[in-house]
Parts: sequence; C-alpha cells; structure tokens
Amino acid sequence: MTQEKVSVVTGAAGFIGSHLCDYLLAKGHRVIGLDNLSTGTLRNLEHIGSDRFVYMNIDITEFIEIHGPVDFVYHMASPASPIDYLQIPLHTLKVGAVGTRNAIGMAKWKRARFLLASTSEVYGDPEIHPQQEDYWGNVNPIGPRSVYDEAKRYAETTTMAYHRQQGVDTRIVRIFNTYGPRMRPFDGRAVPTFIRQALEDKHLTVFGDGGQTRSFCYISDLVEGIYRVMMGDYRLPVNLGNPAEYTIRQLAELIIKLTGSKSDIIYQALPTNDPRRRRPDISLVKKLTGWEPTVPVEEGLEKTIDWFNECLKTDFGL
Ligand code: UDP
Repeated sequence: MTQEKVSVVTGAAGFIGSHLCDYLLAKGHRVIGLDNLSTGTLRNLEHIGSDRFVYMNIDITEFIEIHGPVDFVYHMASPASPIDYLQIPLHTLKVGAVGTRNAIGMAKWKRARFLLASTSEVYGDPEIHPQQEDYWGNVNPIGPRSVYDEAKRYAETTTMAYHRQQGVDTRIVRIFNTYGPRMRPFDGRAVPTFIRQALEDKHLTVFGDGGQTRSFCYISDLVEGIYRVMMGDYRLPVNLGNPAEYTIRQLAELIIKLTGSKSDIIYQALPTNDPRRRRPDISLVKKLTGWEPTVPVEEGLEKTIDWFNECLKTDFGL
C-alpha cells in the first residue's frame, strides 16, 4: 500500500487555506494545518471531521517544528486584505519575510516540495495588460500597500534562492482576486463588503469612480489550480485567476442585482496606489496543467451570497 501523502498548510484557518485543506483531505492526503488565528478563524475548520487532519496553533514567524514526514508544504499564511495589512504592516512584512523563511526551511528539512502563495500584487499598478508572469511589476516601495507587495516579492526571491542555492523543490503561484464562502464579512475587500452591504440594504461603497478593474476567481477553481501547479514540475511563478474582468462599479451593480437589494452605490475616496487594472494572462498555467476557471462569476457570486446570508444571521458575521 502506498503511504498517504502528508501536506502542511500554513494559514490553514484562513479563507483560501481552509478550502485548500478541504480539497487535500478529499484527495486523500493527511493534512497538518498551521495558523495563529491573527486573521483566520477556527470556524473555517470546525466542519472537518477527518482523523487525517490535525490543527496546530503555530505562529510561523517563530521556528516551526513538525514531527514526522511531510511531502508538501503549501505556504498560504499572510494577512491578505488591504485593511489587515494596513493595520498590521510590520507583522505583514515579518510573515512574508521571516515566516516564509521558516516555512521553506521546514520544507527543506523535511525534503518536502514547497509552494508559495504569492499574489498579483507583485505586479503593483501594472503598466501592461493583461499581466503575464514575465512582467516585473510597478510597485511603489514606500506606499501603504508596499508592506504586502514587497513582502510577497521578497518571499518569491527567498523561494527562488532556496531553490537555486539549496535545491529545494519549489513552486510559486501568483493569486489574483479570489472570492467565495468564508471570506470575512468585514475584511474590507470588495466582494464581501458589497455583499454584506447589499444584504443589509446599505449603500455599496465604491472607491474612486469605480472604473478600476479586477478579475474575480471562485475559490473552488483556485484551489484546483494550486493543486495542479504543486503536482506539476514548473518552478517559476504561475498566474492563477479568472481572466473575466469587471470594473468595480459593474461588480457592485451585479451584486445589487443578484441579491435583489434596495441598496444604491455611493462613491468614496480611492485608496492610495490602488491598482487601476488587473487581469491575469493564464495561458502559461493552461499550457502547463490544462487548468482554467470553470465557475462563471454570476454563479460563484450566487454561492457566496447564499453563504453570507447564513453567516450574517450568526455571530460569525460580526
Ligand atoms: N473597493 C471598493 N469598495 C470597497 C472595497 C474595495 O470600491 O468597499 C475597491 C478597491 O478600491 C479596489 C477593488 O475594489 O479597487 C478591489 O479591492 P479589494 O480590496 O477587494 O482587492 P485588491 O485591492 O487587493 O485587489
């Protein structure tokens, strides 16, 4: 009998991390989920009944000690919402720098394959469109978003250096805007904010003129893409996202329509260095793994709205 594969997921109690744990358990892996609950919540894991899952309350900016063999390390941990990383900028830098070093150091020690969850933010406010992996980005190194952007850029650098100098088997995915159940209603990002506001018949707060664009990928598509990249053999960064591009105003209007809300839109100041346009070029990942998103935005939003409807009735919505 072949041994069950063991996957470690950092940031396991977060939005993407918890869905990834579900996915890996469904694939038959043993999963060790690490989190310190600074932005994640155990609510995202409490449905897991499997005895192949273990949760460890670990702050990855400290030395990570795991007993037993590990085959794969998915390094998902980081504050990832602008309001989080603006509130805890130094911690965000430390997670990207020290946390990534600890996570990859643990992978090296275990001779495990390591995947870094990087971000479309490495492209900053992009000057080319759509963004391809060979674009180096346009990041303001001293702007308020830079604590996240530069931490992730540094994390990519760390990952490549561990690969080149120490032979660690590494993968890097650049995750574009992703949405779905388990996003925190108050995490400040456009999708959960607009859904919450629409369900409560409050004004939808569009920043700037709402003409800036994003491309929104449903969570089930994303985790499938992460897994395929991990199982493939390509070591340079790979974009993961849904190329369907919407203005933020269109997104707000769509959410009003899908919720049947009485809300209207109000316009507020655009945050500093808010990227103007963002859409992944996913031809590389498609060529490498055959992956492409399958969930249309309307369908994904409907599922997300259903989840928020339930969640807002409980104290989970607080
Ligand atoms: N946004 C908005 N209203 C909100 C929250 C976000 O208009 O209440 C805008 C934000 O300025 C950005 C876009 O929506 O242009 C996506 O923001 P989000 O925080 O979801 O993701 P990111 O900026 O990281 O792409």
